[in-house]
Amino acid sequence: SEIKDVNIHEGIDSALMILQSRLKGDPQHPKIEVIKEYGNLPLVECYSGQLNQVSINILANAIDALEDSHLNSQCSEEKFLHREKPQIHIYTELIKSNQVKIRIADNGPGIPENIKQRIFDPFFTTKPVGKGTGMGLAISYQIITKQHGGTLECISSPGKGTEFVITIPLTQK
Ligand code: ADP
Ligand code: MG
Repeated sequence: SEIKDVNIHEGIDSALMILQSRLKGDPQHPKIEVIKEYGNLPLVECYSGQLNQVSINILANAIDALEDSHLNSQCSEEKFLHREKPQIHIYTELIKSNQVKIRIADNGPGIPENIKQRIFDPFFTTKPVGKGTGMGLAISYQIITKQHGGTLECISSPGKGTEFVITIPLTQK
């Protein structure tokens, strides 16, 4: 893909569209509420296809985590009753006048500290064979840091949820 001026929100919305069938839920899976808090962003110079892939990877992980915690919570009536509704929050904002910050947060089970150190490693997965390749975050990390000169970080509190924070400069040198 080539570099061009991109509307970040259109890219996130197209990723959400691709994942729509998983977000709407069915008898086996919870409906996931998506809450968008989009800031006022200028166009961003980037490889839009690659950036959309990052959004899809991070959102798909959030959906996997929320589906898992929903399944687990059904093991115990108590936990199920008190569990929050599965949610994904997406925030965007302009920072330092020359960067965009995108945060994608879920209220799933979170990531234990010993696993968190490895999530960006190629082929690292905690998912069953056939469900995860362990490449989603490794590729996303390359796209954000190497291709766009940005940053990708994970903030997670076990039991509360997980947040991925992306920053990318508005223009490429
Ligand atoms: P895959 O999804 O194929 O397992 P990824 O590179 O996308 O590979 O993610 C690596 C691992 O990071 C996952 O297997 C999971 O353990 C962890 N992970 C990523 N995102 C989340 C999340 N939102 N909540 C909990 N764990 C996560
Ligand atoms: Mg993944």
